[in-house]
Amino acid sequence: MKFADFAARADEIEAETADLEITALVRALFEDANDDLPIVARFVQGRVFPAWDSTTLDVGPNLCYEAIARAAGPNVDADDVESRLAETGEIGAVAASYEFGGQRGLASFGTGGRDGLTVAEVDRSLRGLAAAEGSGSQDRKVDVLFGLFNRSSPAEARYLARLVLSEMRIGVGEGTVRDAIAEAFDAPVEAVKRALQVSNDYGRVAELARDEGEDGLERVRLEIGRPVQAMLAQAGTVADALEAWETVAVETKYDGARVQVHFDGDDVAVFSRNMEDVTDALPEIVAFVEENLREPAILDGEVVAVEPRPDGDGVRPLPFQEVLRRFRRKHDVGRMLEEVTLWLHAFDCLHVDGEDLLDAPLVERHERLTDALADGVSKLTLTDDPEEIAAIEEVALEDGHEGIMLKNPESTYSPGRRGKNWLKHKPDVETLDLVVTGAEWGEGRRAKFLGTFLLSARTPSGYETIGKVATGITDEKLAELTELLEPEIESQRGKDVTIRPSTVFEVGYEEIQRSPTYSSGYALRFPRFVSVRADKDPADADSLERIERLAESR
Ligand code: AMP
Repeated sequence: MKFADFAARADEIEAETADLEITALVRALFEDANDDLPIVARFVQGRVFPAWDSTTLDVGPNLCYEAIARAAGPNVDADDVESRLAETGEIGAVAASYEFGGQRGLASFGTGGRDGLTVAEVDRSLRGLAAAEGSGSQDRKVDVLFGLFNRSSPAEARYLARLVLSEMRIGVGEGTVRDAIAEAFDAPVEAVKRALQVSNDYGRVAELARDEGEDGLERVRLEIGRPVQAMLAQAGTVADALEAWETVAVETKYDGARVQVHFDGDDVAVFSRNMEDVTDALPEIVAFVEENLREPAILDGEVVAVEPRPDGDGVRPLPFQEVLRRFRRKHDVGRMLEEVTLWLHAFDCLHVDGEDLLDAPLVERHERLTDALADGVSKLTLTDDPEEIAAIEEVALEDGHEGIMLKNPESTYSPGRRGKNWLKHKPDVETLDLVVTGAEWGEGRRAKFLGTFLLSARTPSGYETIGKVATGITDEKLAELTELLEPEIESQRGKDVTIRPSTVFEVGYEEIQRSPTYSSGYALRFPRFVSVRADKDPADADSLERIERLAESR
């Protein structure tokens, strides 16, 4: 296909505003692209390389302006290009506003004539340009671009400039390309979508749909070394999770940078959330994976900056800004390695030992992860008990993590999707300070500890109950609270005790609801023990009036 043809089609697409029409135009373009289909499928999205490939042209705007200026003739310089850009605001329009060498010579140049650029030629030149490295590479890049602009008509120059700067802007998104592939080659949209998720290569998928149909698309497998888009989470509450699923898979939410780790048995590659290759910046993660991963695999996880605990017992996480000092670093990797230590927490497994696991349920993927990786696997707890979830969150926060993740144990791995199967739950921004007015003795091994605490809000005349909180984490904590509150016991009936209002707990919660269960007329949904407010007296605790206000303001 001539590049001039591609440019003419791109013009038509850009002029169209209706989505269906745009898809139809892209479809027609794909049908006519013949051998150039893979290239055209990328070019319409402003890409030279497939999405999984982090290779870039590494051409900054200035370099592009310089090439345009040179092709525009001796009277034009990069400043002139920039000032036209300031006027039009768009590099394609600027490039199209010059007369390049092509038009000064043969009329057929750049309009699809014998010597006009082809799509394949532009692709080849740009790939060659991306590969240029080392001293003088910038000059060589300008030379290559100059050569291309010099042979371009205004229409071609418009799209060449946009392609070079990855700003195609003709209104063709990933969904349009997906639908156009399905329509052009009569393949089910779902099959195209899946193949795209797995391969992240629109060019290859378009070609497979055309040449091998649905069967070909279904045979697309993950490939070690080619990153996949990460599955994403939504914010959600414990109530959402318990309502949606019978059991919830609960896990620490680590505060670091997302990584996808690929190991082919010999070499490790690490990719960022945006599928960028960050391997060279993370040598200790590479070494850790080489040492601990028993099989070729693709893992999903979070890299967290850590420091030794002051008591010498293991490490604790540092704020995620610390990770950023290491991530994507190209220089001084060795020096920064000494300043910031990174740990891998792997929480998912997409592929192991030749088998794709995207369609396997989370619990199975996690088991395979545990089998494959000797260390650094996140702990996944299955539970339907809100108190256990609160306890896991308490431990996670106490250990310095960000919160918890609530996941559907049955869910498959959906690359790139921010679905409802992964919910992130960070601690409640708002907490209440409530007075402990009662408690219950524990059971079995914990019979000697006070376990569940009755909480009350202050009123002008006394206290009204509003909820119960179970701290149930460590025996140590229970022993501490029992020691604090046992002397305050006023009376006992069975396992229930009443406690003299003396102690204030800081408590997190998801919601305040009206409820007949407690004397205040309100109940806390999913209360979570945060701390003992030793600095507060019951008189400083939150009043029922404030609680009413909070409940009504939602
Ligand atoms: P956010 O960045 O706030 O949208 O939260 C989602 C991010 O949390 C994910 O993209 C991961 O980088 C990160 N994360 C931390 N721990 C986990 C975990 N256990 N499971 C999934 N994602 C996690």
